[in-house]
Formats: sequence, C-alpha cells, structure tokens
Amino acid sequence: MLEYRAPERDFEFLLFELYRVQESWRAISAFADFSDDIVRAVLAEGGKLAAEVMAPLNQSGDDEGCRWEDGEVHTPSGFREAFAQIASGGWMGLSGNPEFAGQGLPKLLGCLVEEMFWGSNTGLYLYCTLTVGASICIDTHGSPEQKALYLPKLYSGTWTGAMSLTESHAGTDLGIMRTRAEAQGDGTYRLTGTKIFITSGEHDVAENIVHLVLAKLPGAPSGSRGISLFIVPKYLPTADGEPGERNKLGSGSIEHKMGIKGSATSVMNFDGAVGYLIGEENQGLACMFTMMNYERLSVGIQGLGAGELAYQQAAVYARERLQGRSPLGPQNPDAPADSLLVHPDVRRMLLTIRTLTEAGRAFALFVGMQLDLAKYAKDAEAQALAELLTPVAKAFLSDRGFDCAVTAQQVFGGHGYVKEWGVEQIVRDVRIAQIYEGANGIQALDLVGRKVLRDGGNTVRALVDRITGSEIPLQFQERLREALDRLTRVTTSIVDRAADDPALAGAVSTDYLDLLGYTLYAWLWAAMAEAAPDDDFGAAKWQCAEFYFARILPKTRGLETSIEADSSAVMQLPDSAF
Ligand SMILES: Cc1cc2nc3c(=O)[nH]c(=O)nc-3n(C[C@H](O)[C@H](O)[C@H](O)COP(=O)(O)OP(=O)(O)OC[C@H]3O[C@@H](n4cnc5c(N)ncnc54)[C@H](O)[C@@H]3O)c2cc1C
Repeated sequence: MLEYRAPERDFEFLLFELYRVQESWRAISAFADFSDDIVRAVLAEGGKLAAEVMAPLNQSGDDEGCRWEDGEVHTPSGFREAFAQIASGGWMGLSGNPEFAGQGLPKLLGCLVEEMFWGSNTGLYLYCTLTVGASICIDTHGSPEQKALYLPKLYSGTWTGAMSLTESHAGTDLGIMRTRAEAQGDGTYRLTGTKIFITSGEHDVAENIVHLVLAKLPGAPSGSRGISLFIVPKYLPTADGEPGERNKLGSGSIEHKMGIKGSATSVMNFDGAVGYLIGEENQGLACMFTMMNYERLSVGIQGLGAGELAYQQAAVYARERLQGRSPLGPQNPDAPADSLLVHPDVRRMLLTIRTLTEAGRAFALFVGMQLDLAKYAKDAEAQALAELLTPVAKAFLSDRGFDCAVTAQQVFGGHGYVKEWGVEQIVRDVRIAQIYEGANGIQALDLVGRKVLRDGGNTVRALVDRITGSEIPLQFQERLREALDRLTRVTTSIVDRAADDPALAGAVSTDYLDLLGYTLYAWLWAAMAEAAPDDDFGAAKWQCAEFYFARILPKTRGLETSIEADSSAVMQLPDSAF
C-alpha cells in the first residue's frame, strides 16, 4: 500500500523556526488570535485524515477508476464517504471568508494542508481543490447575493466547484473559444457549447455542482477580451438555496487517462443552460484568473505532495532492500548483502528527492506568505512577489515533483515499474500537474514575457536584494552570492536582448524559470540551515543543505550558458524540416 504520513516535524520547523509565523501573524489583525496550539491541532487533524482516510483509498481508487453511465458518473468505492469526512471537517473552508462560514485561516497553513491531501490521494483531493478555487473566485468577484448563496455550500462541501474553460480547439488559446451566452432579459443567461477535460464536471460525491464557465456574449470583442464568466449550477438553486430544477447541462463522457483515475474528467455539454454572470461582461478571463492563480499554486503543491510521498516510499525501500556491498567494505557482514543505502548513487537519488522536496515546501510556504500579506496587510511588495512567483511555483514544483517521482521509481529498480508497490502510480498521477492549469511552458512564458520583461527585471532584482540582506551561514555565503549574481546577470541579459529578438523570451523561458527556481532553493536551503536546531533534525538540515549546494545548485551554470544562446538556436530549423 502507498502509506503516507505527514512530515509534521518539518512543518513545525518551517512555520515556527524558519518563518516564525507568529511574529508576522501578530501584525495582521485577522490572524492575531492564532496560537501555536491551534496551528498544531489543524495540522495534526489534517495529517490524520490524510493518513487514515485518504491514503488507504489511493491505490484502490486508481485501480477502480470512475465509471460513466448514461450521463451519471460514479466515483471509486469509498470516495463519497471520504469526501463527506473531508467536507464535514470544514477543510474546504479553511482559508475561506468568515462572513460566509469560512474559517479565515492563513493561506500559509492552507499550503501545508493541501500538501498532505495531494500527497495522500491526488484523485480524491481534486474534488476539493476545484471547490476551494471556485469559492475564492466567487468571494472575489461575486455579488453579495451570489456570495451568500454559494459560499457556505462550497465551504461545507455540500456543493462542489468545477472550472470550465477548455474546448477541443481552444486550450491555451482561450480567445478562440466558441461557447456562447445570451442574455434572457431577466438577469439570467443561456449558455450553449461543449467544454472538454472538465475536472469534477460530473460526479456523485456532492448534491450539486457549481460550474464556473467561460463563454462569449453576442457582439463581444474578439479574442480574450471578449470572454465573460458565468456561474452555471447543475441544479438551479431554489429561493431557499436548495438544489431545484435540473439545469440543461450534462456529462457526455469521461476521459480514460494515464493517471488521477479516481478524478472524473468530463466532456460537458451546455444546451441552453441557465447561467448567472459573475463580475462584469467581457471581464471573465480576469475573474477566472483569480481561480486559476489559486489553482496554480495548488497544482504546484500537487507536485510537492507527490515528491514527499515518493521520498517516503523510496527511503523505506532503500533501507530494507539488500543488494550488493558498500564501496567502503561490507556494512552488514552477517547478511548476504548490504542495504541499498550504502550505494553512493542510491544516496544521490534519495538526497535529490529530499532536498528538492524540503526546499519546495519552504518555497510554497514563502509564496503562501506573500499571498497572505498581500490580501490581509495590503502589502504591495508581497503582491508583486506573489505575481512573480506564482508561475514558478506551478511549474517548478510540478516539474521537480515529477522528477522526484521518477527518481523514486528508479530507487525501486524493476519493483518500481510494476503496480504492486504503487510508485508507478505516483509517476502517473503527478504527470498531469505539468500540463493542466496552463502547461508549464506557458507558465515560463508568463514569468519571462509578462512578469520579468514588463518591469525590466525589477521585482527579481528586489528579491535578490532582499536575499542578500538576510542571514546566511558563512559556508554558503560565497556560493549563494555567485548564484545570485548569475541570476541578476541573466535577468539583465534577457531584458536587454529581448528588445531586438522577439522570439527570445519563448526560447529561453523554461531554462530561466529553472534557473530562478534552483537559485531560490539555494537561498532557502541556506536559510533552513541557519534556522536549524542543534539536534539530529538540525544536523540533517545542514547535511542536506551541503548536498544541495554541492550537487544541485551547479545546474544553474549550465542553464546560464544555454540562456546565453539567442533564439536562432531553436528558430532556424524550418517548419518543413520537422
Ligand atoms: C486530466 C485533465 C484535467 C483537466 N482539467 C481541466 C479543467 O478542470 N478545466 C478546464 O478548463 N481545463 C482542464 N484541463 C485542460 C488543460 O488545462 C489543458 O489541457 C491545458 O491548458 C493545455 O491545453 P491543450 O491541451 O489544448 O494544449 P495546447 O494549448 O494545444 O498546447 C499544446 C502544447 O503547446 C504549447 N503551447 C500552446 N500555445 C503556446 C504558446 N502560445 N506559446 C508557447 N507554447 C504554447 C503548450 O505549452 C503545450 O505544451 C484538463 C486537462 C486534463 C488532461
């Protein structure tokens, strides 16, 4: 079985020793009352739910998958009951608006809860994350009536959310979508069109589904400026807010996928379905971005959860599997062989997974902290950082999560390739995180094209200054300085060269995103070493930091060299030669 246990000690270290959250929370009136005990209780309960309710359904959910029958979708055995437990625990309203029965907890804490839920059962957690995303969108852009009607239902998990953007011919390029909406003159609209790949578009875990649908109004401007956003419930709410008449929408089929088989992905047909405008006409994409930005960090955390789950399996396996002898001479002479842990290359693999995952967790929390400061303290610097780092969190965490899953599979040898141990499932389940919520190439383009070029690299430079001013242990100072200089140099070079080379941003964006990610992880490893306690846990942090600086950070040298090439390296081969 894919056993999962929450890395509680690391959670506590990051919250209380690295980020000292109580100090920053005291400055935010909404969080001033949180005590360490409340935080510990939330994490302990979440960890219990993840380990005891969600993880046991992970492999069975993958084996059984979802079933489509005459438009109805049946989730794997046990999912309904497990979802009900998550819902009744209030987990979907954790960071929700307290005015509408949300719990108003910091996003920072939400990041850790999400990691546990993604890590323990990705297929199941998808029913929750879309619900949280829909509630954030309605809370930000909905009318007071829409908030009062939908938020309590979504926070309590009585109803779930779904996000309907993609059409068969319109994925990344939403501007060419065809789904249309027509005003009925009574404040409502009728939506007609077909969406594909809709996560949780139809299922049996809750009594109603709130679809947030992008569509075009007659005469709307062409492209992405002419898209509006609508709330389209599966059952139209009655005057007292209960599910009433069935709306004209339905699941045409579900996809048969490589992974996340417990998550139902539907083709959704809207046949004159009643919808309610959310936000202003033709401003739908901007409203949807509220949901997508939340989902992007969340999907990054999906990668992180997968990395942690993969590490837990691989570390146990490597300790127990006896194979070969240590290059230092037999370590376990009474046994026929030593454990895999004696082999330097196996240790390299385990340390790679561990250092990427632990730094990834610190990074996700850093982004979560910026979102809290931006929202509750109206901190403009935090807002700029959150915008810069959201595409990095989505892509870097999910790319490294996939790398970690494959590396863990390698630790298992042939046993990683067969189903029994479950590691191949981690690889299949995390792969989608690199694709949905905007493929990772699009995240990289967003980072370079929108965030870095638009402000001439100023936000990156401000971040470098902030890191330079922080406490760094002596043994890492020089190497971190060198990495930060490289980041500054490369940023300036891209900004300078992009003016004369229109294809440059797209040609180097993925390498740049990686360069930024690996450099930030170096800072976070140095900071974690600085904050580490004087015990075994702290000693391991130092040793991991040293591994990261010695073996992972040097990748940034190669990335700099590749970014220095101009776009002709990728553009000169003619289309006809592909
Ligand atoms: C399991 C699953 C669940 C999903 N859930 C949802 C959901 O709930 N709601 C929803 O609306 N959608 C959902 N999607 C759709 C998903 O978000 C899209 O598949 C994704 O955004 C990519 O769009 P596409 O598949 O059309 O690929 P395309 O847009 O055709 O892109 C193909 C490739 O080309 C690259 N590319 C495209 N345009 C550019 C460009 N301008 N510059 C550089 N590179 C480019 C992309 O990076 C990608 O690598 C889901 C998909 C899957 C498979």
